[in-house]
Order: sequence, then structure tokens, then C-alpha cells
Amino acid sequence: MPLPLIRHVRAFVVRGGGADYHDQGEGHWIDDHIATPMSRYPEYRQSRQSFGINILGTLVVEIEAADGTIGFAVTTGGEPACFIVEKHLARFLEGRDPADYEKIWDQMYFSTQYYGRKGLVINAISGVDLALWDLLGKLRQEPVYKLLGGNVREELQFYATGARPDLAKEMGFIGGKLPLHHGPAEGLEGLHKNIAALTEMRSRVGDDFWLMLDCWMSLDLDYATRLAHRAWEEAGLKWIEEALSPDDYWGYAALKKNVPRGLLVTTGEHEATRWGFRMLMDMECCDIIQPDVGWCGGVTELIKIANYADSKGVMMVPHGSSVYSYHFVITRHNSPFAEFLMMHPGPSEVVPMFAPQLLGEPVPVNGRIRASALDKPGFGVELNPDIPLHRPYTH
Ligand SMILES: [Mg+2]
Repeated sequence: MPLPLIRHVRAFVVRGGGADYHDQGEGHWIDDHIATPMSRYPEYRQSRQSFGINILGTLVVEIEAADGTIGFAVTTGGEPACFIVEKHLARFLEGRDPADYEKIWDQMYFSTQYYGRKGLVINAISGVDLALWDLLGKLRQEPVYKLLGGNVREELQFYATGARPDLAKEMGFIGGKLPLHHGPAEGLEGLHKNIAALTEMRSRVGDDFWLMLDCWMSLDLDYATRLAHRAWEEAGLKWIEEALSPDDYWGYAALKKNVPRGLLVTTGEHEATRWGFRMLMDMECCDIIQPDVGWCGGVTELIKIANYADSKGVMMVPHGSSVYSYHFVITRHNSPFAEFLMMHPGPSEVVPMFAPQLLGEPVPVNGRIRASALDKPGFGVELNPDIPLHRPYTH
């Protein structure tokens, strides 16, 4: 059965949380002196917003088919991504069959390769690709996870990322991942504080609950190695995440050799495409790759990344990504659990990851989401009509 052709592609900016989850108000745990590569400058140490982490805002892509059906997706990228979508990428979709996602992705990637390859351009491509999968699901009246081969488990189980793993344990999550607060520029005193925070949390959650540390690219190899050994010995750390710059494949390969046996090295949320992840895996940089579905190239590219990971015996557990992760992870045995970003400011309660932008976004109950909660066409969510959309460019 031929599908209605794509009629129009539109791109919007939205402010205030949602897919750009760093775009939060004051007093949120996600902006509380978290270690970053900019922490070497004291003036940018207290707040990530001070160096511009929330400067872009959310990108919303809408793809409308000739019958009026609209697929949409949200990711980061803001106004510059709107320009790329409207002025450059839209030409590879309009007038095309929405089922032709392979050719569309290939043309989006290679037409932008001279200025793209990673970062903002791949965020924009990801947003278009996810909107296309949403449209395809809506046209075929199937959830995306069914288009991807169907669920291999009846439910997803989650660990929680946030400042309160102790509360996450009470809420039924299988683990908690803390942000690291002090980077190498804060010296040995900072290292002691990092370990003290971790051991204090270990005393609250007991011996068996998973505890992880997210280092958000802030460390060097020597610091990461020392942190890993102390965190393993003193607090039973499960994994050390994104310890180094995403460009430092050599550093990751060395870190993986340096850490205690049993402690996992994870990274990849700021990596993109099959080629970036192939580098991580071929150089044996980590035990778990963590592509963000909205940043790595979208579902079309994640299929290739996940298949390669499966063949290499590497776990693939996406970064955040809300419904775009849920629909993928439930189809994969090498993605045995998923991340849930705790976006409540405390975080003392479970709220939808991309709140307030999506309607119908499922949330874990007792740390779990049933496959049946995903049984709606496409990604199963709608754009919240109360959110003001700004369309900075047209074509
Ligand atoms: Mg992370």
C-alpha cells in the first residue's frame, strides 16, 4: 500500500525544559555545582547555565504527509537547528515517500558532511529522523517499537539519574546515578568531597543498590583513574560515566585498562553516528555505549550502532531520550535496562522526562514501564498545545 507523500517539513524552537532538559529554573539539582570541562575556570564552576549549557533550547520538527497526518519529534538544537532543517534538510523529504528513511538519512548526512558529522547538525538530522519514524508509525497505525521488530521483554526497567539515589531506590529504580560535583581543578580536597558524597549515599542505599557516577567529560585520565579506584573500594561504584572528553578515545582505552576489574566504563552520550561509535568499540573504550537517540543520528542510525554493539558484545543503554529510547530499548537484548532522567528539581518525585513538552509521555511505575504503555501509533506522544512554538525560518 503506497503511503501519502511528505508535503511539508517545519522546525520550531521551544524554551523551558523538555528535550533541552538543562533549560531549567534556579535551584534545580541539574545545575548545582556539577563538574564540567569548564570547571577549570572558577567563574563557570557553580552553574552550567553560566557557560551557556541551555543556550540552544528545544528543537521541534514536524513532518506533514499529504493526508494531513503529522509526525513530530523533539531534541536539542534550537534556532540554528531550525535553520538547518528548514533551509537544508527539508529538500530531502518533501515530495518523498515517508517509508524511504534510509535514503533520506543518507542524503541528509552526506549533503551536510562538509560542515556536519557531529554535534548540532546531527542533532538536527536526528530530530528529522525521529519525526519521520513518528509519522511512519502514525501512517501505519503501529508503535515504533513494532516497526523495529517488536518487544523482546514485557517491560523496561530503569535506573534513575539525579541527586537522590536513596529516593530513587524507594521509588523502585534498580540504581541511581549521581552527578560528580568537583573536577580536577578543585584538587585533592575536591576528590575527597566526591568520595565522601558517594560513600554517604552508599550508606543510605545499602550494599546491593547500583550507584554510578556521571562525570560529564570533566576529568583527566589520572584523576579518573584515582577516582575510579577509590569509588570502587570505598563505595562499590558500578560504573564511571563520560569521565573524559568525547574526543579522547585513547584516554578512554587507557581508562578501561586502568580501572578495577568489575567496575564498568561507560560513555557515548556526546558521540554520534555509526563511525563515532565504531571508534569507541574498536578501540575498546568502554563496556556500555550510551548514545542519545536525539543526538546520535536518530533511530535509523541507532539501528546500525546497536547492531554493531551487539556483534561486539557491548551493551547499548541510551542516554535519556525519553520515548525515543523506550521504543528502541524494548526491542533489544543488548539493552537490558534504560536510563530515566529525574527532572523534578529535588528530585523527590517521578515526572515525565521531557515535561512539559509532550502529552502522553509514559513514566516508570515502581521503576518500570510495561510494553503495553507504548502501544500507540508512532512514539505515542503528542506535542503539548499549551507550549508556545516559535518558527524562526521558513522555506
Ligand atoms: Mg551522562
